[in-house]
Amino acid sequence: MLIRKLFKFESAHIVRNCSSDRCRRSIHGHSYKVEVLLEAHTLDHGQMVYDFGLMKGTIKDVIDAFDHTICYWDKDDPEYIRLSQQFSARWIALPVSPSAEQFARLFFVLIDAILKLTVMKNGEGDVTLHSVIAHETDTGYAQAFRDDAYNPRMGDIHLQDIVFSEQVCAEWSDPQLYDKLLAGTPLVNPEVALQIKV
Ligand SMILES: [Zn+2]
Repeated sequence: MLIRKLFKFESAHIVRNCSSDRCRRSIHGHSYKVEVLLEAHTLDHGQMVYDFGLMKGTIKDVIDAFDHTICYWDKDDPEYIRLSQQFSARWIALPVSPSAEQFARLFFVLIDAILKLTVMKNGEGDVTLHSVIAHETDTGYAQAFRDDAYNPRMGDIHLQDIVFSEQVCAEWSDPQLYDKLLAGTPLVNPEVALQIKV
């Protein structure tokens, strides 16, 4: 069974080397929608794949970090990168270009890492990340599956190569959130007192 939760953020970018002249040479923004699809073959004590409420924790925090940012490929012109950092407090350096395809892969890698570190406490089954859909516009989206996310032919994405600006980190409820993710610190879900014996 699949469940799906939708997240939203607004962000600016340039997509270098793309065919559309407007996209490759001008900073512009999108209202992104990110769909996170989780899969499991059994249900938890609440008879859910995974409580939607639990996805409002670290998963939401990491996606929300992209809101009101400028995202740039770390291979971009050093002057563009320098000015992006100078004139925007919220920036994110990415090891790949900020296309919808790469956002879908990036969020897959990020959320997959979060789920692997999550200690589930309510009898959840084999919950895994099925795919991530990144909508760049109302009419265009990219969907990344596991094979895409870790496919080196599409560019390597390692967590340590995604760099969040100081301001982005400071606005997290836990400013150490990303350091903890990099260090592999377990994310323990709250205990659940069962009201009906199962
Ligand atoms: Zn764009």
